[in-house]
Amino acid sequence: MQTIAVYPGSFDPITNGHLDVIRRAATMFDRVYVAIARNSEKAPLFTVAERVSLARTALRGWRGVKVDEFDGLLVRYARRKKARVVVRGLRAVSDFEYEFQMAQMNRQLDAAIETIFLMPKDEYTFLSSRVVKEVASLGGSVSTFVPRNVEQALGKKLGGMP
Ligand code: ADP
Repeated sequence: MQTIAVYPGSFDPITNGHLDVIRRAATMFDRVYVAIARNSEKAPLFTVAERVSLARTALRGWRGVKVDEFDGLLVRYARRKKARVVVRGLRAVSDFEYEFQMAQMNRQLDAAIETIFLMPKDEYTFLSSRVVKEVASLGGSVSTFVPRNVEQALGKKLGGMP
């Protein structure tokens, strides 16, 4: 039997921290769906189509990894994909409270779906899409934080760096 996992998030845009989590998940599961949320409450910099395209390019050739989009309840989406596992990343204690709440809520909604947390390499523990966008918008280099195609897209979108 295949073990399938879903890694949901905004991915606005995908960063090297996300890639680190996906790389770890890909060694544990036969298939990992990187699921980009359509109904995120935050005002995103990139459209869903742009976020999907950036993630697809960054993940081209990664075995067992697929980029997808979803809206509505995560547990419903996971069920549709026959996934029993939801993967989330944990960077610091500050992530814990929200992640714990979401995991418990998802368990209430569907007890058959387990949430697991993966920790990135320490050099990515300070990394978030928000900080990357902030640095890029101020003209700082983000080349060590995001894949090349994302760096270029940020440059275009924010009219600064290449
Ligand atoms: P969301 O809006 O759902 O938090 P994000 O794209 O910001 O979407 O994050 C998706 C998941 O990836 C979350 O579990 C988040 O904690 C995790 N994550 C984000 N950045 C990193 C990182 N640098 N290292 C590890 N996990 C991360």
